[in-house]
Order: sequence, then C-alpha cells, then structure tokens
Amino acid sequence: MNLLSDIKQKIDRIDPIAYGKTRNYLSGAVSRLSAYISRGVISPIYVAKHILQRYSPDQARPFLYQLAWREYFQKIWYRHGNKIFTDWYHVQQAERSGISNAVLQAATGIEVLDNAIVSLYTTGYMHNHVRMYVASLLCNIGRYHWLMPARWMYYHLLDGDLASNMLSWQWIAGTFSHKKYYFNQDNVNHYCNSHQRGTFLDKSYGEISEMPCPELLKESSLLPLKNNLPNSSTLQLDYSRPLLLYTSYHLNPNWHADEEANRVLVLEPGHFENFPISENVLNFIIQTAKAISGLQIFCGEVPNIPDIKRFKKIISIEHPLTRHFPGIKEEPEWLFPGVYPKGSFSSFWKLCQPLLSTLKTS
Ligand SMILES: Cc1cc2nc3c(=O)[nH]c(=O)nc-3n(C[C@H](O)[C@H](O)[C@H](O)COP(=O)(O)OP(=O)(O)OC[C@H]3O[C@@H](n4cnc5c(N)ncnc54)[C@H](O)[C@@H]3O)c2cc1C
Repeated sequence: MNLLSDIKQKIDRIDPIAYGKTRNYLSGAVSRLSAYISRGVISPIYVAKHILQRYSPDQARPFLYQLAWREYFQKIWYRHGNKIFTDWYHVQQAERSGISNAVLQAATGIEVLDNAIVSLYTTGYMHNHVRMYVASLLCNIGRYHWLMPARWMYYHLLDGDLASNMLSWQWIAGTFSHKKYYFNQDNVNHYCNSHQRGTFLDKSYGEISEMPCPELLKESSLLPLKNNLPNSSTLQLDYSRPLLLYTSYHLNPNWHADEEANRVLVLEPGHFENFPISENVLNFIIQTAKAISGLQIFCGEVPNIPDIKRFKKIISIEHPLTRHFPGIKEEPEWLFPGVYPKGSFSSFWKLCQPLLSTLKTS
C-alpha cells in the first residue's frame, strides 16, 4: 500500500476520546504516528485537521494537547538551539555518567522494562509511559546524568526527535521541570498489565525517592554508538531546475510535488557523528524517503553538493539543524502559528486553546 494512504488509515483510526482515557496504559489507544510526524512525512496540522473533521475541539482536545507538547518542544529548539543539550533550569545533581549496563542489556529484572527495551532495539518504538519509567530509572533512581541515556534512546527510536527527546529526559530528571518524576512497581503493574512483586521498585514513592542506587544499576558503559551512513551515489543534477533539500526530519512526499526539480535527501556526517542513529532508524529513513518521487541521497555536507553554487534556486524548510543551508528557507507548518513558549507548557497551552476552533473551520 502507498505510504500516505497507510498513514491516512492510521489517522482515521484515532479516537481522541478513547485516547484521553487510555493513553497512559501500555495497551491504550495511542496512534503510533510519531515516526511519520518526527520525520516530517506528515505535519501535526494535517493530523489535527483530519481529527477535527470527525470530532469537536472538546472531544479532540486530549490528542491535540499532546501535539501541542511536541510543538512546544520544537519551538524551544528553534528559538534556543543547542541549549536543549544542557541542563535547562536546574543543574542535575548526578552521581554517574554513561549508562547502566542493566538497562543496555535489558536486564533490570523489571519485566515490563526489559521487554520494552528489547522491543525498542527491534522495532524502534517504546510507549510514552515506559519511556518515562526508563528515564526515571536511569536519572532519578540510578542518578545518571540524563544526556547520554537520552542519546542512547534517540539512537534507537524511529521517531527520534532531538527536541522531544532531550527536553523529555530533562523534564523527568527535573532539570526542565520543578520536580523529578518517580514511579514504582505498583504504577508499572497498574498501567502495563503486569503482576510482578518483590522487585527493587516494590516500595512506596517516598522510599523510592530516598533509596540509594540499587547495586544492579551501578555498573555502566560509555556509549559505543556507531553510524553506518550509506555511500553517496553520484548525483544526477539538472542545474536549470531548482534544488529541493530534504533531511531526515523533512520527508514530505507532497512538498513541491508538482514542481520539476532536483530532490536531494542530505545526510550530513557532521550531524550524525554528534547524534548517531541505529541501522534500523537509518533503514526506516531511507525506506520512507522512497515515497518521494525522484529523490537522490547525498551523504555529505551541503556545501559539498557538486557545483551547488550553480543553482539559481535552492529550497529547504527552516530547522535548527539546517541554518547553514543556502537558499530559501520555508517556514514549517505550525499547528499554532504565532504562539511561542514564554515559560511553562501550561502557559503555552493556554494560548493555544482558543485556536482550536479556528483549526476546525480553517
Ligand atoms: C524520555 C522520553 C523521550 C521521548 N523521545 C521522543 C522522541 O525522540 N521523539 C518523539 O517524537 N517523541 C518523544 N517522546 C514523546 C512521546 O513518548 C512520543 O511522541 C510518543 O510516545 C509517540 O508515540 P505515538 O505516536 O503512539 O504517540 P501518541 O500518544 O499517539 O501521540 C500523538 C502524537 O503526539 C505527539 N506526542 C505525544 N506525546 C508526546 C510527548 N510527551 N511529548 C512530545 N510529543 C508528544 C507525538 O508527535 C505523537 O506522535 C519522548 C518521551 C519521553 C518521556
């Protein structure tokens, strides 16, 4: 089936009312759209408008609320750039760096977490609530600094997005929020249909937040994350036509679809050295990019595209990772244009809410 109709079916299946009631459960009515949203195949506004054709703004609110979280993180990244890679409001009082081997090897002894880590390695997906558990286990119970574990998770996620990822880890670790997030075995059992007892998490919240790091979590590794970017094939370029630049965050097959143009997906080694991605993720990007007609792949830095200066028109989409791209930068399709974070998410959401009914009618 065609990629876009497959995605459209996923969107048609979203029931925002059931979503609101069940999204925290492992078996909840989540959409699993994130890889397509993060990779720019579809925009949040496209998803939102489809949902609003079938539901009122009130009914759609729980789902749009999550899309707003994504936009909040994105807009912080656009505005503050690399600051998202540093402790935001508070410095984390971490005792360890690297990442716990028990987590890397899916051997924490917490069945739900170990299964979810194995599944992350094979499918590239992890449920939001389990992402929160894993981040809390590492940062707050194991007292690891958040940055390296965040890079490990980003490496494996098909939906890997640096803003949602880094700022979510910081939110859990309490550097981007006012308190750390804790969980216990009861919480895991309740939301993940598990019945495990007697684990090191089988305690009250008070005990969990006070307990020393369990021995099991202490042994750690520095991350050996490697990229395997494909070899660049020789580009066939027609310099009389515009050059459209795609990235791993912008793979929209409908973008300038009617135009005669050179279409090049740029995978810049400099970026991937800083933020490696797994082979699974790379394959997903390349497979997804096949939906873009006539697309060629260039593994190299943009200025090294052969004779790039000969192009009269170069177009890309504005993004924190492409500020050095030459040519025209088109504005991304924001869900809430003109609304910018000035502090907490709740103050951002307050400004977004009045726009929900406009979204429905636009
Ligand atoms: C530690 C941690 C790391 C994360 N890393 C990423 C990441 O790299 N990339 C990423 O896209 N999301 C990330 N998230 C957010 C969230 O977990 C995923 O977007 C969500 O689980 C994707 O599954 P879904 O499409 O089924 O989501 P649904 O629950 O169906 O949500 C619909 C859409 O809303 C957005 N969304 C939902 N929840 C969140 C959230 N908490 N924050 C931001 N956007 C959200 C996503 O675009 C998602 O596709 C992270 C969360 C945590 C706690």
